[in-house]
Amino acid sequence: MNIILLGPPGAGKGTQAKKIAETYSLPHISTGDILRENINNDTKLGLNAKSFMSRGELVPDNLLIMIIKERLSRNDCLKGFLLDGYPRTIPQADALQMILTESNNKIDAVLNIEVDDEELIQRLSGRRMFSCGTSYHVIFNVPEKEGICNSCKGKLYQRDDDKAEAIRNRLAVYKKQTQPLIEYYQKKGILQNINGAKDISGIYEDIMRILEIYD
Ligand code: ADP
Ligand code: ADP
Repeated sequence: MNIILLGPPGAGKGTQAKKIAETYSLPHISTGDILRENINNDTKLGLNAKSFMSRGELVPDNLLIMIIKERLSRNDCLKGFLLDGYPRTIPQADALQMILTESNNKIDAVLNIEVDDEELIQRLSGRRMFSCGTSYHVIFNVPEKEGICNSCKGKLYQRDDDKAEAIRNRLAVYKKQTQPLIEYYQKKGILQNINGAKDISGIYEDIMRILEIYD
């Protein structure tokens, strides 16, 4: 099963992806996590990506296409994969299609999580992260022990791009560059809209009902 999670920043893609990946034993491929890991490790890629990310801009397509091509070529993707945060532009979606066609593969479903701007701002401004990539929320999704991650036991931090100015820019960037992908995948007949206004478990149940068709 090859799945894309689509939706604006803060929609809950990462939160749902972690749960889906566990249920179906699929690799969770988050391009945001890959980029943040590169920044933490001071790689050349991380250095190139850092200024775009902190401003809330997209990292150039050629870098993302290179990342995704390498990641999808690994053996753990043979049984399927879950993409979170890729594609974010039409050229990225075209490149993905080419990569998959070369290996006689395809995307089965695109889950588009729909949430309005006001709720997105609340979710992003209250988001707190751990270095393992798990995200929590100061009100909506608090860890079992305050300030400590349930899985990695690591220290909590707030992403630079979850501060007010970068949030505004990211929502504008989403509308201009990523939203056109909804129509792109609708035309291919593989788009599934998900009501993202529910709580985390309500959305997860809806996703499970949809994925039963593809399993
Ligand atoms: P994305 O990966 O789409 O940017 P996240 O999964 O990181 O979004 O979620 C953004 C923030 O909103 C996090 O703080 C998360 O804990 C919280 N969150 C996720 N889903 C919901 C939900 N259904 N209701 C309320 N808060 C949520
Ligand atoms: P969110 O879902 O909250 O927007 P992500 O963790 O998916 O955050 O991405 C964080 C940042 O990493 C993006 O704002 C962008 O700068 C960069 N990024 C991640 N994925 C891509 C992508 N596919 N194309 C371009 N930039 C990306």
